[in-house]
Amino acid sequence: MGDILDGKALAERLRAIVAEQVVRFRERAGRVPGLEVVLVGEDPASQVYVRNKAKACEAAGMRGVLHRMAATTPQSELLAKVLELNAREDVDGILVQLPLPKQIEADVVLDAIDAAKDVDGFHPMNAGHLLAGRSGLVPCTPMGCMRLLDEAGVKLEGARAVVIGRSNIVGKPAALLLLQRNATVTIAHSKTRDLPAICREADVIVAAVGRAEMVRGDWVKPGATVLDVGMNRNAEGKLVGDVAFAEAKERARWITPVPGGVGPMTIACLLENTLRAAWARKGYPPGDLAL
Ligand code: NDP
Repeated sequence: MGDILDGKALAERLRAIVAEQVVRFRERAGRVPGLEVVLVGEDPASQVYVRNKAKACEAAGMRGVLHRMAATTPQSELLAKVLELNAREDVDGILVQLPLPKQIEADVVLDAIDAAKDVDGFHPMNAGHLLAGRSGLVPCTPMGCMRLLDEAGVKLEGARAVVIGRSNIVGKPAALLLLQRNATVTIAHSKTRDLPAICREADVIVAAVGRAEMVRGDWVKPGATVLDVGMNRNAEGKLVGDVAFAEAKERARWITPVPGGVGPMTIACLLENTLRAAWARKGYPPGDLAL
């Protein structure tokens, strides 16, 4: 039976480290790092996410400001807000919460964000840096996954990894990060044939699908590590992941729970990215940052 990979505890440790480094930044720069979060509309889940993100910034000693815009906001108005934040010297991170209302093309808005302030790592410039194996801002959820694997001491070099899901937000960047660490990576998606057999060969499974408890226990190779990114409500309304946790835990060496696994790491990595963005914008050497 496997051990639980506790994302909540690791996230708390990372947030404490970020808070220490924020003090160093403040001493050097004479100001704190600042994240501006833009929410368009009233999606209930998004409201919770953005509030948590802004609160976490404040708790780490950074500035976290929430901009709320009406669901009917025209694209031009949102773009004007992004450009205003791009121009502000005291703004280090800009995050436009997805999904956006129908009248707005998300790609146009994401492309308008200054890549140096793109703490979500969704800008094509940062996506390109990740593809090329160069440094840049990396999407927070896959970054959190890598930190969890490192925390467990999972050897990635030569390991077989399967990432289920190919979104630009989770699946693709997770696969690229695993590849950077010399894993042999398979990216599975809705058209993949015989997914259980592919999973059974994997030393690491990253499930980022959005289907409650799809990955069953007998898909897991004994001794494998299972990271569950999914956040779904099951028939009883309970928050569950993409992995049938109790079954998979019987065979995995390490497994993340939902909640308390990848989710808390996403926010901690957002704080880290905001600090990194602030540090880089000031031109301080990355090596001076003790993260
Ligand atoms: P998307 O809906 O953008 O992507 C889902 C992916 O899963 C797609 O690539 C899709 O394939 C694939 N897929 C769908 N059905 C199957 C199937 N039956 N078999 C194999 N693959 C399948 O979702 P996201 O990447 O944005 O998010 C994934 C999950 O992670 C969601 O539950 C989301 O809530 C959660 N999430 C959690 C975060 C956290 O902090 N913990 C952060 C972000 C997301 P195809 O491309 O062919 O359609």
